[in-house]
Amino acid sequence: RAATTLGVPNYARVTWDDIGGLTAAKAEIMDLLREARAVHPQARFRRRSGVLLYGPPGTGKTMLAKAVATECDCAFISVKGPELINMYIGESERNIREVFERARAHAPCIVFFDELDSVAPRRGLGSDSGGVVDRVVAQLLAELDGMGGAGQAEEAAAAEADADRQRLVFVIGATNRPDLLEPALLRPGRFDRMVFLGVAESDAERRVILQAQLRQFLLAPEVDLTEVLAHCPPLMTGADMYGVCATAWLRAAKRTVAHEYHDGAAARPMANGMRTRNSDS
Ligand code: ATP
Repeated sequence: RAATTLGVPNYARVTWDDIGGLTAAKAEIMDLLREARAVHPQARFRRRSGVLLYGPPGTGKTMLAKAVATECDCAFISVKGPELINMYIGESERNIREVFERARAHAPCIVFFDELDSVAPRRGLGSDSGGVVDRVVAQLLAELDGMGGAGQAEEAAAAEADADRQRLVFVIGATNRPDLLEPALLRPGRFDRMVFLGVAESDAERRVILQAQLRQFLLAPEVDLTEVLAHCPPLMTGADMYGVCATAWLRAAKRTVAHEYHDGAAARPMANGMRTRNSDS
């Protein structure tokens, strides 16, 4: 079987400050982590359950999960639901087992399942040729149920090294459509905490997102954020706003290149735009 890059851990570097707004969601996640540490300080994640982040695309679910990994100083494994599904019998379940094995091997670790609805849709929805979805859901539930433990038998097993490592794995799921998820996933002990991430609703909320994103850029002094925001349509997601920054940067870069081409001049400050901090060096 070919080696797979599925579930390769990395040490995410998104920080809390990179995320603009989402104050309620951040607070909720921090509460969960505090709770986890308070119960069992030497194991970072004592809770046996996971968290489900849900909301429209581009609202910062992936960013938030990465920031949690940075905050907890642990490895981060990100898997997109469709990557797990394989047409060959038994492969999808094996993929899930391998993701959890890798997570334990790199513990403490956060496993992030993006597009969870595609790997574990409500049973009976659509076609499930060969029962792949049923088997995948069953495997996922088995892995989730195996993490940590609450009962006496599990407390005894917790003495074993492997069980200790399991406790150092915390699972975060994300979906745009929680209504499509297999309800068994949301039962206590599984993804039983749901955190909503929505679209910024006011200029003030959009401004903090923009300010967080602009930390990556050098802003020309004459750029007026109030004016920029006045041109932003409502219901822009964080991803849309990053698109505005990236487009502005690209235009500014093109203008600089044009200046240099015509004048043969060395790099000069831009009259009206942005440079990334890296490109400035
Ligand atoms: P999807 O559901 O499509 O997977 P998502 O909710 O996981 O989307 P992210 O991938 O976290 O969204 O966000 C996409 C990009 O949008 C980020 O890389 C970031 O540049 C920007 N972004 C989104 N929300 C925020 C935010 N609150 N603060 C700063 N940047 C944000």
